[in-house]
Amino acid sequence: MLTNRSKQVVKREMTWFEKAYFPAILSGLSITIKHFFMKKATVKYPEVKREFAPVYRGQHVLKRDESGAERCTACGLCAVACPAEAITMTANERKKGEENLYREEKYASVYEINMLRCIFCGLCEEACPKEAIFLTDRIVPSTFERDEFIYGKDKLVEPIDQRVDVSKRQTPAVLEFKKDKHFKHNKTYLDKMLGKAKKH
Ligand code: SF4
Ligand code: SF4
Repeated sequence: MLTNRSKQVVKREMTWFEKAYFPAILSGLSITIKHFFMKKATVKYPEVKREFAPVYRGQHVLKRDESGAERCTACGLCAVACPAEAITMTANERKKGEENLYREEKYASVYEINMLRCIFCGLCEEACPKEAIFLTDRIVPSTFERDEFIYGKDKLVEPIDQRVDVSKRQTPAVLEFKKDKHFKHNKTYLDKMLGKAKKH
């Protein structure tokens, strides 16, 4: 004998009780009854929804500034940072008279995210120098067509009258910094217009 772990197996006849599977059935039933009284791990979705963690990262939003202009300047940093190569965009130059539509001289005329490629890592949000892209607690809905997972500006840019609150993804220091209008970064189109009006 190499080890003392070997065990002598007794080959005995099963009783009629065992042959009728009664011990196995009773043991299985006891597990079922035990789980019947335990706290349920599942919820009745969609009637009941689980609370998301504050750091949950779901569908992206392209933000507008306080005066409604799109913040994205099509710099491409989010696309470069994206490990899944899910972001594509086309840059365009802002024309005279479009200052209220686009915050910077350059803007994204096309901005697309392939939600099938996206792994919701949040690196695009971290890379953005203009606070233009954020991940939100919204779920990307399922669909049958692959094309429908390419989200363009129509789905990504927040509607002007239904702003998406992203303040919980920003630190108190960032929120405080945004109030300081001495920095060019924090000035909106309206602030600039008001500044010009004061000079005249
Ligand atoms: S969340 Fe990550 S994977 Fe998705 S688009 Fe942003 S950088 Fe790419
Ligand atoms: S979302 Fe931000 S990082 Fe991406 S192109 Fe626009 S400004 Fe640049």
